[in-house]
Formats: sequence, structure tokens, C-alpha cells
Amino acid sequence: MGRGSNGVIMKVWRADDYRLTVTSTERITDKYIRIGFTAGGLLDDHPVHPTQFIRLWIPDAETDKLHHRGYTLIDQDPGNDHFYIEFAIHNGPACQWAERARVGEVIETSVLGSNFQLPATTPGEYVIFGDTASLPAINTLLEAIGDTPARVWLEWQYESDTTLPVRNKPHHTVTWLQRIDDGRAMREAADELTVAPDAFAWVACDTATTRAIVKSLRTTLPKAQIKAQGYWK
Ligand SMILES: Cc1cc2nc3c(=O)[nH]c(=O)nc-3n(C[C@H](O)[C@H](O)[C@H](O)COP(=O)(O)OP(=O)(O)OC[C@H]3O[C@@H](n4cnc5c(N)ncnc54)[C@H](O)[C@@H]3O)c2cc1C
Repeated sequence: MGRGSNGVIMKVWRADDYRLTVTSTERITDKYIRIGFTAGGLLDDHPVHPTQFIRLWIPDAETDKLHHRGYTLIDQDPGNDHFYIEFAIHNGPACQWAERARVGEVIETSVLGSNFQLPATTPGEYVIFGDTASLPAINTLLEAIGDTPARVWLEWQYESDTTLPVRNKPHHTVTWLQRIDDGRAMREAADELTVAPDAFAWVACDTATTRAIVKSLRTTLPKAQIKAQGYWK
């Protein structure tokens, strides 16, 4: 199967390639699947860090094409060459692949551009905006920030989304908001937010909502105190 122009770009940027093998599949809700993978040596070359992500090469069920899609590594276990990925299910090739995947199945992946580090100076607070696609990344972030307070806003689309496990501690508050009007509730939450100048913001919603939230945050926070990435379109 062909990787097309995305494959050429990855080669030019010297992405590292690995082969992963499915070790387990588990349905967390009707719209969420957790899949275990052997890492094919990936974790030896790329040290674990919060929000670590890879690009899966997803075979298209109908054509000869491979689609590349970003996914987050969680519960990485370098000693056993193993990690998990959690797939929020919608209607696209990656989600269809996750629903079909069986133990023993092999999938290719490239590693490029995942390098997030917590800020060197511990912020007074984290403000975090995301949804079910970025929940795995947010969970790795909540585990990494330890005692620092955090306020988290999560957007839900399906009733079962709000039952998904969030790895928050008592000093991390979580607010689920229903997705309406392409992210209006999340935009309003960001607009109404008061943040201290020493806060750090992490934002990963759909591309347009991410952009709008960052615009609101920029009225109080400098660019260096915001990490933002659109996770889907
Ligand atoms: C760095 C990074 C890390 C990511 N980590 C994860 C992860 O751990 N788990 C995860 O589930 N996703 C994650 N994503 C998001 C995932 O890559 C996208 O959701 C991707 O578009 C799914 O591909 P697909 O082939 O299923 O759908 P696509 O072919 O891309 O899209 C098909 C249709 O589904 C819609 N769609 C796609 N994604 C979503 C969504 N999340 N919510 C609602 N509608 C959607 C599109 O608008 C389109 O109409 C990550 C993205 C990035 C950039």
C-alpha cells in the first residue's frame, strides 16, 4: 500500500519507522476502544514524555492508500516494549481500523514531532482544554504535573463520553461540556476564564475550536505559556 505525498514528507523530515503488533483490544464504551501494542523498539529510541504521540499508517479498507493519523501513547512500558492507544470512535479510516483490529495484527507507524516537555518553571496552575481525542494526552499530562493545580475542560459528543476515565487528582477540577455549534461551549468557557499570569495552558480540540480558545487565552497569557495543537478537522 502507498503512503503518497505524506510518506515523502516524512522521509524528507527523517521520521523513524516502526512496526507495531496488536496485543489486546478492549471496548471501554460504545465509542471508545483501548488497544495494546508491542512497540517494535520505538520506546528505546524515543523516551517517554507526557502527550507523546506517533503517526499511524492506516490502511484504507476500500483503496490501496495508507492514511496517516496522529495517536497518543499511554501507559508506556519500555521494559516490556509495550504501550496502549485509546481510539475515540467516529467515522473515518483510523476508527474503522480500530474496530476491526484483532490480536496479532501488524500496523506501521512513523515518529516525528513529538517533543513536549513540561515548563521548566512550575506554573501556578494548568488550564487544559480538550475532548475525547485528546483525553489520552490529557491523562498523561495530569499524571506528569503531580501536585500542581489544574482546571480541565473536556468536550463530549456521545452520552458515554462523560463516563471515560479521567486521571485527575483532587486538586484537578474537570468540567465536561457538550459539543454544540462546533465548539461554542468550549469557546465560551475560554472567553469567560480568568487566569493568573503564571498559568500554563494546554489546548487540543478540533482545529477551529483550538484556534478560538488560544485567541482568548492570548489576552492574558504570553505565547510561550500556551501549547496548542488541533487534533482533528
Ligand atoms: C498529536 C495527535 C494525537 C492524537 N491522539 C489521539 C488519540 O490518542 N486518540 C484519538 O481518538 N484521537 C487522537 N487524535 C485525533 C485523531 O488523529 C483524529 O481524530 C483523526 O482524524 C481520526 O482519523 P479517522 O481516519 O478516524 O477520521 P478522519 O478520516 O480524519 O475523519 C473522518 C470524519 O470524522 C470526523 N472526526 C475525526 N476525528 C474526530 C473526532 N475526534 N471527533 C469528532 N469527529 C471526528 C471528521 O471531521 C470527518 O468528518 C490525535 C491527533 C493528533 C494530531
